Amino acid sequence: MRKPILAGNWKMFKTVAQAQSFVEHLQQLAPNTTDVEAVLCAPATSLYALNNLLAGGTIKLAAQNLHQAEEGAYTGEVSALMLKDVGCSYVIIGHSERRQYFGETDDTVNQKVHAAFKHGLLPIICVGEDLDQRNQGITKNWVEEQVRAALANVSADDVSRVVIAYEPIWAIGTGQTATAQDAGDVCTHIRQVASEMYGKEKGDLLRIQYGGSVKPENIAELMAQPDIDGALVGGASLDPGSFAKLLQGA
Ligand code: 13P
Repeated sequence: MRKPILAGNWKMFKTVAQAQSFVEHLQQLAPNTTDVEAVLCAPATSLYALNNLLAGGTIKLAAQNLHQAEEGAYTGEVSALMLKDVGCSYVIIGHSERRQYFGETDDTVNQKVHAAFKHGLLPIICVGEDLDQRNQGITKNWVEEQVRAALANVSADDVSRVVIAYEPIWAIGTGQTATAQDAGDVCTHIRQVASEMYGKEKGDLLRIQYGGSVKPENIAELMAQPDIDGALVGGASLDPGSFAKLLQGA
C-alpha cells in the first residue's frame, strides 16, 4: 500500500519567523497526522529552525534543491550532507522553475538523485510538460523521457523510495489545474514506465504526486485517481489553515 504524501513547496517565501509561526499554527490545526505523510519544503534558511520545532512529530522536512557534489568550491550551493545535517528527510529535485531559470537538465537531475540517496535523503523528482508540448500531444513521451533520465542507474531498492511529482508547467501558479482524468492518465503512464524499468512490484510501490494549482477544493478529486498518491502544492501551502485542509482532503 502506498501512503499518500502531501508536500508544501513554499518556494522563495517566508522568513524564519514566518516559517516557525506557520508550523506552530499547523501543529494546532493538524496534530500528528498519520494517514497522510505531510512534508514541508522550506527555504534553506529556515530548515535548521524548523527541524527543532518539528522534532518528535510526524511532519517531515524537505529542501527545495541540492547541489550534486559532496562539498567543494561551489559558492552559494548546499550539499545533500548539509541538508541531512539540518534534519531534511526529502529534497525536491528538478522542479520546472529550476530547469527553466537555473539551467538544470535531465543529466543534473539524475546526478542530484544519486547525491540525495548517497546521504539518505529521499528525492521528490519533478517532471512535466509545457503548454506547447501539451498542444503538440507529446506529453506522455516527454514525461517518460524525463522519468527514464532521472532514474538512470537508480537501483531497484532505491526506486521504491522515490517520489515523482508530475507538474504540468502550464498549471503551475496559473489557477489552471489539469483535469483529474488527464493528470491521472499521465501518472498512470509514469507508473507503467517505472514498472517497465523495474518490474511491476516496484512500479506499484512508487508514489506519484500531482502538482499545479492544487487547492483544498480540488485535492479530493485528484486523489481519487488510482495512480495519484499525493500532491506537491505551491501557493495553497503557504497558509497553515489551507495546508491543514489539504491534509484532510488528501
Ligand atoms: P502552485 O500550487 O502554486 O500551482 O505551484 C505548484 C508547484 O510548482 C509546486 O511545486
